[in-house]
Amino acid sequence: MSYPELLIDREKLSHNIRTIMKMGQDADVKIHFVTKCMAGWRPFLEVLHEAGVEYFADSRVENLREISDLALSRMMLRVPMISNAIDVVRYADLSLNSDMAVIEALSDAARTLDREHGVILMVEMGDLREGFMPKEILDVASRVLNLRGVWLAGIGANFNCYGGVIPEERQLVELSELAAAIRRRFNVPLPIVSGGNTGSLYLLSENRLPLGITHLRIGEGYLLGIETSYRKRIPDLFTDVFAVKAEVIELRRKPSVPTGLIGPNSFNEIPVFKDRGQIWRAILAIGEQDARCETLQPRDSNIEFLGASSDHMILDVTHAVRDLKVGDVLEFTPDYAALLRAATSPYVQKRFV
Ligand SMILES: *Cc1c(COP(=O)(O)O)cnc(C)c1O
Repeated sequence: MSYPELLIDREKLSHNIRTIMKMGQDADVKIHFVTKCMAGWRPFLEVLHEAGVEYFADSRVENLREISDLALSRMMLRVPMISNAIDVVRYADLSLNSDMAVIEALSDAARTLDREHGVILMVEMGDLREGFMPKEILDVASRVLNLRGVWLAGIGANFNCYGGVIPEERQLVELSELAAAIRRRFNVPLPIVSGGNTGSLYLLSENRLPLGITHLRIGEGYLLGIETSYRKRIPDLFTDVFAVKAEVIELRRKPSVPTGLIGPNSFNEIPVFKDRGQIWRAILAIGEQDARCETLQPRDSNIEFLGASSDHMILDVTHAVRDLKVGDVLEFTPDYAALLRAATSPYVQKRFV
């Protein structure tokens, strides 16, 4: 065994997946399960497969390649790079798109490889990440329908990312009206109307997802058991599927404020300190290369985060529930940012329990 470790509770993970699949089925909404924070790690993908997931989505073709034999449908989430069009077509059945030149490259690649590839047109609805402007969409749809290598699978929108914009019924109604307009104008089925990510899950769970939204892309929701618009728990989901473990390498009583002239720390920030007098401090063998330390929530809520550098995390353990010593291992619950880094760090051992 080697630390740091990322532990994954297989039963809780499967429960979360099955619960979200059921939510989708009950509302007739298809869900692609997003795996991008697990770096294409096969044992994880296999657990999803065993829990019944057939639709997988990821932001990297390297990860989609690992899913090839497990998925009925693979969706590329990040707008493809033109330079990568061949691999996107090779490893994804669908991709989200916001640029006509990219879509043309995908079409050429699909014809070269003699494969089917479905295009989903992203529409900008306020969050200001990827997407065509709504008024362009009929024109773009017409151009995509004229390409011979790809088919027009749907339209979609993204929220809660760059601008932190919360998806509300208003924007999703607009999205489904755009879809209806495309269907009317061109007489195509346009099966996918993708209404966002985990930020839209609150609408699904409150039965408020507008009719006409047929699809969601869900990652954080099944991983961490929360929706991301209001950061509320989703009823009946586990919020502790993941745990990060790290080992204490120094434990000593020291002052809480450094002595000397204060300049930038290891990340070129000028640190500020609260004077709490002498405290018991633990140094753990985990750092910013392993996780986002500040958002690792200690399972013992009496333990407080003080700081971290590349390879060290420093905690105030003065009021820790258990008496600690060097060599002890502490447990943390990661948020999404900490999980993303831990699960993609080559230094962190992933293990199912
Ligand atoms: C990451 C991503 C998702 C999944 O987001 P979650 O908040 O984890 O559900 C969905 N769509 C796109 C385009 C993404 O990049």
